[in-house]
Amino acid sequence: MIRIEAIRFIAILPGSAVRNVAFRSLSLLLVLCAASFARTQEAAEVFVPGQTYFGKDKHIEYLAGDLPFILSAPHGGREKPEHIPDRKEGTFAFDVGTQELARAIHAEIYKQTGHYPHIVICRISRRKIDCNREIAEACAGNKDAEAIWHDWHRFIGAARAQVVKSRGRGLYIDLHGHGHKVAQLEMGYLHSADDYASTDEQLNGSQFLAASSLQGLIALNRRPYAELVRGDFALGTLLMERGFPATPSKERPQPTTPYFRGGYNTVRYGRDGGPIAGLQIETNSRGVRDNDASRAKFAKALADSLQIFFEAQFAMPLAPQPAYSHQQDLERSASDVPARSASRVVAAPSRCAPPVTCCRRFRCRPRHCR
Ligand SMILES: [Zn+2]
Repeated sequence: MIRIEAIRFIAILPGSAVRNVAFRSLSLLLVLCAASFARTQEAAEVFVPGQTYFGKDKHIEYLAGDLPFILSAPHGGREKPEHIPDRKEGTFAFDVGTQELARAIHAEIYKQTGHYPHIVICRISRRKIDCNREIAEACAGNKDAEAIWHDWHRFIGAARAQVVKSRGRGLYIDLHGHGHKVAQLEMGYLHSADDYASTDEQLNGSQFLAASSLQGLIALNRRPYAELVRGDFALGTLLMERGFPATPSKERPQPTTPYFRGGYNTVRYGRDGGPIAGLQIETNSRGVRDNDASRAKFAKALADSLQIFFEAQFAMPLAPQPAYSHQQDLERSASDVPARSASRVVAAPSRCAPPVTCCRRFRCRPRHCR
């Protein structure tokens, strides 16, 4: 109907006006087609879990995942392409070993769960691009650098979309390395060291909640906020229990200074991350990322901690559970393990085979299975 009216309208116009209207209509049609094509392309960008994808000139690497966990390593890159000039202003510290640590975490989580985390790695030197800054400071106006910066965020965005679509919520960690005197993990939730001098009651106040990078968890309203950052099941506490001193945590509730509170990525993908909670982890070097053995040890501690963290804080397992029949389990427990009560049964021991995570309660760890 609208089209017929438009044709009638064109028919009563003089020749040049008709050409004008036709040209504008054609232009509009082309713009609409282009927008539709772009949307189709966006929708068609499918990342297969377990596969690796690269951005421009392979400077950004994305290990696509299927778990509700995203980890990025922005400052462990070594590549120094000559056509991108060195940045003149900003911070240039190289987070030695963090790229390798991210890969070790990827391998360990797969080993434990049989599923893949999402890992985004910046392989280009911080001299050229800073993937933890807004674009002006990150790229110093260089167009090639800007394209790479956009690749970084495109991949994290794709990871986020997959997590939200598949599990509804999840966790993001921006992984760094510090050179501070005190050898401890600095867990950054966007609060200063002084902020943690507050009592737990004060920390639970609205001003801290609003500033936090854990919005995705705060929205669930499962625990008081102070418990999320320094309670029994805070990530710092869980890592500390596994031999990696961390602050804030139950044992070290207030960070010493200097302390890194979290940067651009933590704001963008944590505080402003919707259903995905985020934080920054600044790692000390020795025993964490200084060699393969350290990295494997830390990766195991983090993977163990994440499995407990997801159960305790998100009330969901990190990895999907295998198909489970309570009736079958009761039958098996009646014949095999007569002493167990039905309420304690979560999975028969015979079902426990690495890398499958078979225990549903967060206190029950895979290593306890037989
Ligand atoms: Zn860094």
